[in-house]
Amino acid sequence: MKYIGSMILCLSMCVLFSAGSIHADEESDARMALYKKTSAVTDIPWEYLAAIDQYERQVHDDPKEGRVTAIEVDPMFWAGSEGKMPSTFFPEGWGSDGNGDQKVQLDNDEDVLYSIGTFMKSYGTTSDDIKIALWNYYKRDLTVQTIMNTARVFQKFQTVNLTNRDFPLPLQANYSYRSTWGDARGFGGRRIHEGTDIFANYGVPVKSTTYGVVEMKGWNKFGGWRIGIRDIYNIYHYYAHLHSFSEDIKVGDIVQPGDVIGAVGASGYGPPGTSGKFPPHLHYGMYQDNGKNEWSFDPYPFLRKWERMTKN
Ligand SMILES: [Zn+2]
Repeated sequence: MKYIGSMILCLSMCVLFSAGSIHADEESDARMALYKKTSAVTDIPWEYLAAIDQYERQVHDDPKEGRVTAIEVDPMFWAGSEGKMPSTFFPEGWGSDGNGDQKVQLDNDEDVLYSIGTFMKSYGTTSDDIKIALWNYYKRDLTVQTIMNTARVFQKFQTVNLTNRDFPLPLQANYSYRSTWGDARGFGGRRIHEGTDIFANYGVPVKSTTYGVVEMKGWNKFGGWRIGIRDIYNIYHYYAHLHSFSEDIKVGDIVQPGDVIGAVGASGYGPPGTSGKFPPHLHYGMYQDNGKNEWSFDPYPFLRKWERMTKN
């Protein structure tokens, strides 16, 4: 059952990624127009509104029929507590008419974005104010961090249409990998193998496959020198057993596909500096966060796809 579940997840995500490019331009134009319109009337920079919608697209899947955003607000936020359940954050309800049609509709993009923007503005419009507003709205650290980071990525590239990808190693390098998802681990841990091992020589450059932000960098007993990048789809990309990191890369950095983040090595399975207990390879893992939990899924089909994309 678990296997079937992850196959369905993979299929739906493959569809998500491949459908992305066809209508991406038109779709992102409509999204941007809405974000910018709401930004103009709420003073919340568009990239934060965009990042909230981007986050909710992973939590609730793509926008429902007839909608441009995927944001689904809590009825308590919308209508207030009605005296039944005390809510310190949303006592009166924030639902309001954003499009001027005299109606306040939970399923209307402009009403929803305007209401959230108005709520956020009540905290102020600086990045720190917005962070506090987001925490009071979502009450989850990883969610707040992901939205803040996604907003920075959108701000830097000035678009939400970031569909380009890269393969983590240069195609001309001598490398090999196969599907080993769920295999017993060759080294250490009792858990199943949560990733794909790409075997290559020491020192082959390792590149970011996506747009995102460096969330973690350092040593772990099993993973050795490793780096974690969260992309705008709230997927965490994990690169382990590195020989070294790129000199200037640090936590919080914005990366794009092709940015070199380190080099292939054989580090791990011991205290910092331990190396050479297995042949050099890049362990590549992918983890999806759905706003409640984070789980690992098979990166192999994505690696194959990015390899093809990069070849063309
Ligand atoms: Zn591995």
